[in-house]
Amino acid sequence: MTMTNLIPQKIKAVLFDMDGVLYDSMKHHAETWIEAFKKFDIDFPRKEAYLNEGSTGDFTIRKAIKQICNREATPEEIEGIYEEKTRLMHLRPKADKIPGMQTLMNKIREAGKKIVVVTGSKQPILLERLQKDFGVHPDDVVSGYDVTHGKPHPEPYLMGLKKADIPVEETIVIENAPLGVESAIDAGIFTIAINTGPLEKQVLFDAGASEVFDTAEEIDEFLEKISVVSDKKSV
Ligand code: MG
Repeated sequence: MTMTNLIPQKIKAVLFDMDGVLYDSMKHHAETWIEAFKKFDIDFPRKEAYLNEGSTGDFTIRKAIKQICNREATPEEIEGIYEEKTRLMHLRPKADKIPGMQTLMNKIREAGKKIVVVTGSKQPILLERLQKDFGVHPDDVVSGYDVTHGKPHPEPYLMGLKKADIPVEETIVIENAPLGVESAIDAGIFTIAINTGPLEKQVLFDAGASEVFDTAEEIDEFLEKISVVSDKKSV
């Protein structure tokens, strides 16, 4: 058992992933990946979108072409597929919030804990939306623009720790993707997961998650149990 499997005794910061944790946006990502690959005559499996979630577009395209076509991706494919995917994403409707997450965040704030959002996303309107939908200040967001390496590299969560300015042993991560969990675990942080996609729960446990839940309410109960939030009704 590694240190990161032990439940921290005193949590002062909660680091949230965004896609699939705060927003129900993964279906849009999966569908636009499938469509973009199709334009290049590649049959991209839906499951891959979820397995690669959190990594860069470059990583997803190289890996898929290697697996499906058994060759290296050409620069034209890497650029073209990603451009098409981005174009299609812009045509998609705004993703819904994951039910219960806003309430959960409010409770964490009321308990006096720090919240930081750690995402690989580079959507230009992202900071605005996080502030409007969840009350997260732009200074408390690590986005794809802030890091050199995407998840599963630990850099995003290491930067999240720095922004939270709380010791690693007093921090918890909420993720939904296997590569995101890996990133957080490699940054040394206790990590729990919410399974909002089609993957087996075991994939998230295998990546290193200590607990895997289905809903924000279940996470709320767990955070009450470990005294991150209070079970009393807010005033
Ligand atoms: Mg995610």
